[in-house]
Amino acid sequence: MAQYTPMIQQYLAIKKEYPDTFLFFRLGDFYELFFEDAILASRELEITLTGRDGGGDERIPMCGVPHHSADGYIAELLKKGHKVAVCEQVEDPKAAKGVVRREVTRVITPGTMMEGKWLTDKENNYMAALAVLDGRTGIAACDMSTGEMYVTSLPGQTETALDEALQYRPKELVFFGFDELPKTSLPSTVVESRQLDAHAVDSQYPEAGKELDVAMRAAVNALLYYIGTTQKRSLAHMRLLKRYDSKQYLQMDGFSRRNLELTETIRDKTKKGSLLWLLDRTQTAMGGRLLRRWIERPLLGRAELDARLDAVEALKGDLLLRSDLRTCLDNVYDLERLAGRISYGNANARDLIQLRLSLEAVPELKRQLGQTNAPVLKELAEGMDECADLVSFLQAALVDDPPISVREGGMIRTGYDEYLDKLHSASRDGKTWIAQLEQSEREATGIRSLKVGFNKVFGYYIEVSKANIANVPAGRYERKQTLANAERYITPELKEREALILEAEEKMIELEYQLFTAVRSEIAGHIPRLQSLAERIASVDVLQAFATVSDERGFVRPQFTDNGEYIIVDGRHPVVEAVLEREKYVANDVRMNQEDRQVLLITGPNMAGKSTYMRQIALITVMAQIGCFVPAKEAKLSIVDQIFTRIGAADDLVGGHSTFMVEMLETRHALQKATAKSLILLDEIGRGTSTYDGMALAQAVIEYICQRIGAKTLFSTHYHELTGLADTMKGVVNVNARCEERDGKLLFLHKIEEGRADKSYGIHVAELAEMPGWVIERARSILEGLEAGSSATAEMQMSLETLWSAPVAAVREEPVPQLSAEEEEILRDLRELDLNATTPMEAMMKLFAWKQQL
Ligand code: ADP
Repeated sequence: MAQYTPMIQQYLAIKKEYPDTFLFFRLGDFYELFFEDAILASRELEITLTGRDGGGDERIPMCGVPHHSADGYIAELLKKGHKVAVCEQVEDPKAAKGVVRREVTRVITPGTMMEGKWLTDKENNYMAALAVLDGRTGIAACDMSTGEMYVTSLPGQTETALDEALQYRPKELVFFGFDELPKTSLPSTVVESRQLDAHAVDSQYPEAGKELDVAMRAAVNALLYYIGTTQKRSLAHMRLLKRYDSKQYLQMDGFSRRNLELTETIRDKTKKGSLLWLLDRTQTAMGGRLLRRWIERPLLGRAELDARLDAVEALKGDLLLRSDLRTCLDNVYDLERLAGRISYGNANARDLIQLRLSLEAVPELKRQLGQTNAPVLKELAEGMDECADLVSFLQAALVDDPPISVREGGMIRTGYDEYLDKLHSASRDGKTWIAQLEQSEREATGIRSLKVGFNKVFGYYIEVSKANIANVPAGRYERKQTLANAERYITPELKEREALILEAEEKMIELEYQLFTAVRSEIAGHIPRLQSLAERIASVDVLQAFATVSDERGFVRPQFTDNGEYIIVDGRHPVVEAVLEREKYVANDVRMNQEDRQVLLITGPNMAGKSTYMRQIALITVMAQIGCFVPAKEAKLSIVDQIFTRIGAADDLVGGHSTFMVEMLETRHALQKATAKSLILLDEIGRGTSTYDGMALAQAVIEYICQRIGAKTLFSTHYHELTGLADTMKGVVNVNARCEERDGKLLFLHKIEEGRADKSYGIHVAELAEMPGWVIERARSILEGLEAGSSATAEMQMSLETLWSAPVAAVREEPVPQLSAEEEEILRDLRELDLNATTPMEAMMKLFAWKQQL
């Protein structure tokens, strides 16, 4: 190290403190990165890698970005899960002896982003901590941009705890007290015990902190410690600590959440196509975020649900009120994030105007809500603090249209500060004097083309064209600048006035800045009021969103019952229906109860609509339990405590596990945790192994659920043999996804009806998938042979798998034609070609294409 230049030594010393970050090292107008950082960053950011002599034997790899465009590059790195430490020059380079002093002023990490441009409006930006202590795991999650913080704990050091933390979709995870870190693909940060500040919780949450168990405290501590080391600024707005018990909510594991596409689709992980997307008719960013939280945490309490449903009903029935509400909500900006920025001291005057406009919308919002007869809406309205004091304060202090910059003046309203007004009038008077100067000098000199102007180098001047120079009063005018056809002069009075104006303006800008920051700090003292107002507005927004979609899509209010019944009449899958257009969607009933209809065994060919039916039931449950109306003609539901799903998982394989193993693990999970109040959806359990194995497992699982757990279960299967269970086991009922064969083609009716499927139609589906024609024909003839030779009843059908393992020799063999895949395709094309609709030219082209293909 000794051979490096002093600056590189300084760099290395700072970098040692921040080993897992990209260190943005300020050097004049650039942020430079060195060594490994430079090599990696040049790759991640696609910027040129250069080198620099640093005193060592070899040149030091280096790359840099201009300081004014650093934000974009930082955002890019954060998006990729990296952290960035910003190291600034903290003394004036001119005053420095030796190397300029530098310090890290900020560490920006994916979980602690605050700046609006790096955040998504309707999405929280969480980071979470997991802490193991005293046999429990504490889970804390916070969003720095809004100031929310949630905490809970669970027994043991379990997957469930990780699941709980991942539910927040945190950008970063902090682990504390773990023997071994759970395998997760998320960027993670480990905080060691000795680094924890034991008093962090008490100082940050003097009241709330008392209710926390040790594991919760440790988790909150770990988070606060991590935030403290990265942020180096006020956390005053992080006041909303909310403790909860995950048992208060309908529980679903991460897999089920993903599988039901609650907040994003499985295929491309976007919101579009998810339940959230369908329901999101919120008008405000806060409402959008709350909706997401509600969907992620459906409720169990009937009273709370009925209260929400009452509100939805009231708003659904009053289109006019709803549209007024929506207009009103449109004027409300993101109060939570505004509050965050105000508390951090990076809100500008425009932010405060947005705050004012939002607050000004509140009285009207309250008035509208007061008209409804839904108690929840009335209660929400009554609790809304109009913050009239803050509104009048802001009205008095700030102009309506201030600039973005807080360093240019132009923010403070006349009448707010006497001294500022004086400076204003001094500057204004000076400018008026100058404006009048042109006229008076023209009169005094008799030069009619005389002009008064201003430029940045010379300030104010008097300009006289060359032709009139003779008339310039030599004693009074002093020549300052010569142009091609004019001379510019100044006079002592002009310069005096100018000095006054400039001085007043300089003072004004400085004073405005001071006044503005004082206004901002004053508002910062009221942040809890703003936060609680924001929460109420967000709830109103979500309720009106529910009412809006429910009205537009013809949803009905679900009724809850305690007698174990679960009845849906004409239920629909809300998202598939929306994508398909309503008329095309086939509505289906569900009838379940705790006695004789507890397990529905669903048979029917692939593509017949079995899994859509199962998902639809889960989604209707979730919708009902967040307090939204549901896509059905009628719904009478028991409240569900947990949902387990096991529906097609091919794209979700955890490393090292076969599909079958994943299937078994998830089924075990359901069997261990489910209660009589749970909903279990199992899609073709057991298909990943040999027929008899699979069938045996499937049957045992059904028996276990039916006799030991009593959970409501939908079980789809291709094993028609299983349908016999309905005759022997109370509670098991057969339903099937109906299909019809017309003209040898298979027609999916998507109608779920009572009874078992009469055929499996596997070959039809293979035909739809455009299997080679020979395979289809051959399969048909094998099947015929099998059916003729089989001693089974006509009802008994076999799956394709059974077919392959059956004694094929019993069927007359046929030679396999030696056609290639291309040849098969050409033959198919040829068969389908409609000669009456083909011109000679097209026919020529076809022939040409086929020839090419062969
Ligand atoms: P399965 O699980 O039986 O293989 P799916 O549930 O995946 O079948 O359904 C296959 C396709 O049929 C879906 O992509 C969907 O578009 C359509 N579908 C399913 N149910 C319905 C329905 N009730 N009404 C209209 N279309 C449906």
